[in-house]
Amino acid sequence: MNFCPICSSAEIERKIPEGDNLERDVCNKCNEIFYTNPNIVTGVLAYTNDDELILCKRSIEPRSGYWTLPAGFLENGESIEEGALRETFEEAKLYVDDVKLFTILSVPHINQIYTFFTGKVANYDFGPTPESSEVKLFKYDDIPWSELAFPTVIKTIKLFLEHGDNEVFNEVLKPKA
Ligand code: ZN
Repeated sequence: MNFCPICSSAEIERKIPEGDNLERDVCNKCNEIFYTNPNIVTGVLAYTNDDELILCKRSIEPRSGYWTLPAGFLENGESIEEGALRETFEEAKLYVDDVKLFTILSVPHINQIYTFFTGKVANYDFGPTPESSEVKLFKYDDIPWSELAFPTVIKTIKLFLEHGDNEVFNEVLKPKA
């Protein structure tokens, strides 16, 4: 940070504020402290009664061309469930019923928290969007494991196929060794 977004001063210093224990950007003119915290990504694993789930082919970076569950960054003023349903419509034109919290995945090495809900596919006129070049139902046996975009997506689908969605999983994902 070069200039204070509050007072426009260039007197930004990286230091440990009084009473804190971590270095922060602090404005020495207006005394504002700028905290950075993990981002929350929220999404949906949408399934059918015919052992299928929805995947979206990403048309944007990162991981363009790979398949993912519809998900995105939580916005201010939203609950994680509202964010998950919004992202699912934005990325797949898809609505879901019977929504249940399913995974909470901490990814501390990239400062992200992922939350996924499960939900039953509610409309079959889902389809591509500016963020997804394809939106498709995959049989559980035909999941393209090697073409999935993110470890959090792989983890969530594996947990769902192994356990169903009657429990909530709280896990930490570490960097690949
Ligand atoms: Zn300032």
